[in-house]
Amino acid sequence: MLQVRDLTKRFGGFTAVDRIGFDLDEGEILGLIGPNGSGKSTTFNLIAGALTPSGGSIVLDGREIGGKSPTEVCHMGIARTYQIPRPFRKLTVLENVAVAAYYGANSLISRSEAWRRAEEALALTRLPNDPGVRVDGLGAAGLKKLELARALATQPRLLLADESLGGLDEQEMDQAADMLSDIRREKGITIIWVEHIMGVLMRVVDRCVVLDHGEVIASGLPHDVAHDPKVVEVYLGSDAETIQTQVAGRRAGSPTGPEAAVC
Ligand code: ADP
Ligand code: MG
Repeated sequence: MLQVRDLTKRFGGFTAVDRIGFDLDEGEILGLIGPNGSGKSTTFNLIAGALTPSGGSIVLDGREIGGKSPTEVCHMGIARTYQIPRPFRKLTVLENVAVAAYYGANSLISRSEAWRRAEEALALTRLPNDPGVRVDGLGAAGLKKLELARALATQPRLLLADESLGGLDEQEMDQAADMLSDIRREKGITIIWVEHIMGVLMRVVDRCVVLDHGEVIASGLPHDVAHDPKVVEVYLGSDAETIQTQVAGRRAGSPTGPEAAVC
């Protein structure tokens, strides 16, 4: 579905993303992980059109999308969430999602269709669709769900979810991870999930790509990545054993639950 090759982003003399490459199959959940500042959000910004690549290519279904505008990329079926939610504070929750449905649709849709898509997205993210619910009443978990609902309302084929778990407690993290699994299963949406809380991510993803200083240092199945000496050295550190146990539990079909191992 998506091929990223030699993708590079320089900010002045600083290279934030350095010739990275990975493939994504339709229906997969791919985890994009790595320490703070390793280039994960920049990679999302490049795919979603918020930034123009300095080099390399991003091919969606055989078409180059690198350098296209965020609107074009959205209309081609890629939606993204932002690490820091910034909803329209003066609009209700439902209105926020309806705006996304209306402007994110790849053809002109009616107001009532936008409302219908918004209600569907709210149901998927288990947010109340009561027209009176205001954004100010949402806590951290609610704002993250709203971010996800706005992305889903554009009816994407590929969802880029950026650090959906920040600020959530353990139970909320568990629910958020289950939600991404459900979205893939129920809607067939392919997902790239950026997250630094590894225990939760590893429970859900099919494969991982690990970034460090803008470069891919490892990619593959969660089990292989969690045991990769370089990943252990630069990223997992003293949490390696915990993560490896969690991944082993997942392979044996007995998920160990979301251990909030923040790496
Ligand atoms: P991550 O999401 O993995 O934590 P980012 O992709 O946000 O990391 O950032 C990667 C690096 O690029 C960081 O060193 C960050 O400071 C830098 N960076 C990101 N955006 C910009 C920008 N617009 N201008 C300059 N430097 C940036
Ligand atoms: Mg980031």
